[in-house]
Amino acid sequence: MPRLAQALETASKVARALDDGPRWPERQSLVSLHDVTPAHGDAIFAAIDHLRARGVAALTLLVVPNYHHRADLRDHPEFCQRLRKTLGPRDEIVLHGLYHLADQLPADALGKLAASTLTAGEGEFQALPFAAAKDRIAKGLRCLDRALGVRPSGFVAPAWLQNDEVVRAVAASGLLWCEDHAFVYDLKDGAQILAPALSLASRDPLRRLGSRAFARAGSRVLPALRTVRLAVHPGDFAFPQLVAALDTVLDRWLPDHPPKVMREVWQSAGARHSYTESP
Ligand SMILES: [Zn+2]
Repeated sequence: MPRLAQALETASKVARALDDGPRWPERQSLVSLHDVTPAHGDAIFAAIDHLRARGVAALTLLVVPNYHHRADLRDHPEFCQRLRKTLGPRDEIVLHGLYHLADQLPADALGKLAASTLTAGEGEFQALPFAAAKDRIAKGLRCLDRALGVRPSGFVAPAWLQNDEVVRAVAASGLLWCEDHAFVYDLKDGAQILAPALSLASRDPLRRLGSRAFARAGSRVLPALRTVRLAVHPGDFAFPQLVAALDTVLDRWLPDHPPKVMREVWQSAGARHSYTESP
């Protein structure tokens, strides 16, 4: 029964998203670099340079304030300064968890399965209740403000794993949008964009092989949608085959779906509220 309920909920979301269609008349690519943290050092800047060279003129950077409790941005001023210098005028910084590490496992079997198959224990927000989620978001926002002088307008949970209380906490924190695997949500007026995320997995050879096939299929099928979404991880760049797969996706998508960040998407859709500018 829960599965049926979940399927119905997904079907209704899809229907509502398609109904929202005329609000999003333009074709667009949302390209994001996940796990931006000093823990990944130079790999972050190599990834940004690569994406820029492939035509990603507007890039979303998902920044983790204190990756695995060992890379607090405030302890890495050189990284922060370099990141600010590297940002292009259209890039947007987004809050991506606080530690990017789960400290409690979800109680239900389906949640446990998602945690083990979708992420290596990094679903930090998957099982958090409202108050704890709001507290972590506040800490994350403070850190981004102090270290980078940035006030993001969006939140992306690590591995896109979040519950309804987390979504309420994101909205209660004054943030304007969040996303999961399938949708991007405008938290102010309830609009949503159907844009299944295409991401690669670099953890082991089997996943890498599957990822390449998935990327090939996604690069052809997803452009039927107005909005396509590509999630890139710094680890992808350690494997030439994954880089080639990413390049194929970008080559196929960008000519008809020019890159945008969420601030630009909401603005062009005439969202009723204003969005804060990233630097
Ligand atoms: Zn992540």
